[in-house]
Amino acid sequence: MTSVTDFYDHELDVADNFASKALDRMRHDEIPPVPQNFEVWYVYYANVNPELRDKINEIMLDQPKITERDCQDLYEKFLNFGHERETYQRAGDQINATLHNVSDLMQNVKDTTHSFTGTLKDASERLDGIEVPEDVKTVLSLITSETDKMMEYNQELEKRLDQSSSMMGELKRDMERIRHQAITDGLTGLANRKAFDDQVGRITRECKREDTIFSLIMIDIDHFKSFNDKYGHQVGDQVLRLVAMTLVNEVKGQDMAARYGGEEFVIILPGTNENAARAVSENLRKAVEKKEVINRATGDNLGQITISLGVAQFYGGSESVDELIRRADMALYTSKNKGRNQVSVAPSPHAISK
Ligand code: GH3
Ligand code: MG
Ligand code: MG
Repeated sequence: MTSVTDFYDHELDVADNFASKALDRMRHDEIPPVPQNFEVWYVYYANVNPELRDKINEIMLDQPKITERDCQDLYEKFLNFGHERETYQRAGDQINATLHNVSDLMQNVKDTTHSFTGTLKDASERLDGIEVPEDVKTVLSLITSETDKMMEYNQELEKRLDQSSSMMGELKRDMERIRHQAITDGLTGLANRKAFDDQVGRITRECKREDTIFSLIMIDIDHFKSFNDKYGHQVGDQVLRLVAMTLVNEVKGQDMAARYGGEEFVIILPGTNENAARAVSENLRKAVEKKEVINRATGDNLGQITISLGVAQFYGGSESVDELIRRADMALYTSKNKGRNQVSVAPSPHAISK
């Protein structure tokens, strides 16, 4: 009996530790328990970010508690995506791991309780059929009442585990939503500039390490300003969404389409050389050209839109991400200068430096 409850206590401690410390702390300091504040305290108690921990300890030397404002500053400084994405990811992973612990533990509690109840029932039925002295009966009834208590305790545990499990589930969903929002462009639903920067950095390092290639396509909508000026910003936004959707439909698999900014888009094509990227670009160009813009508000057909594209292949070597983007940009401006609605491929860095 005791070994079972010991086991629960230990596991429960492990499962609850960081999360409940964080929640107690927020309650104590009267900070709203929103995901960002929770994250600050969770990371503090999980001790996965020494700089954050030192800063909090330093603040507490001067003041009795950490305010909501402090929490916001700490979050911006130590946990926002630009700075500490990995820490954020680790905190999320820990929440995940805790959730798994909690649900494994619950299953254990339920299994053990059920098998224990079964054994007791058996024993008690068998005892009913035989003659036993009074004092044995007394001992048995003591055991039975202790067992009842333990089962009550189990039920209470199950309830608490259910509660923390659903609380952790909510936090996890919140964190995932925030993580998703941080890397998504709100207007088009494409990956945003931040997600692109991360991804292009990653793939460049990978290609250097493994001696492989990839290509970039920079895309800019032609005469977008006059379109905006003529029909208004909302129709402009509609056009941005239309182009974004066309890009998503045309690129597949590992390729990543992102909104680079304003009316510019960019596509990363892993393992793709400039010829293949040119062919993809041609398909994109034709796909956009085929679309007609219908003004949602009036039903008017506003005609076609076109895009200009610039392709640059990453050849490896010492070229930086910025240099690669600059080459793709130069190719894009070649397309613009040649009359728009076309694709140009950038010369290799080797050819440019000659
Ligand atoms: P070009 O063919 O040379 O690319 O001409 P352009 O008019 O497309 O180029 P320019 O860079 O002069 O204009 C871009 C315009 O995009 C300016 C700005 O008003 C508009 N724009 C940027 N971001 C948004 C947005 O989020 N929504 C809308 N509706 N318009 C935007
Ligand atoms: Mg532009
Ligand atoms: Mg433009």
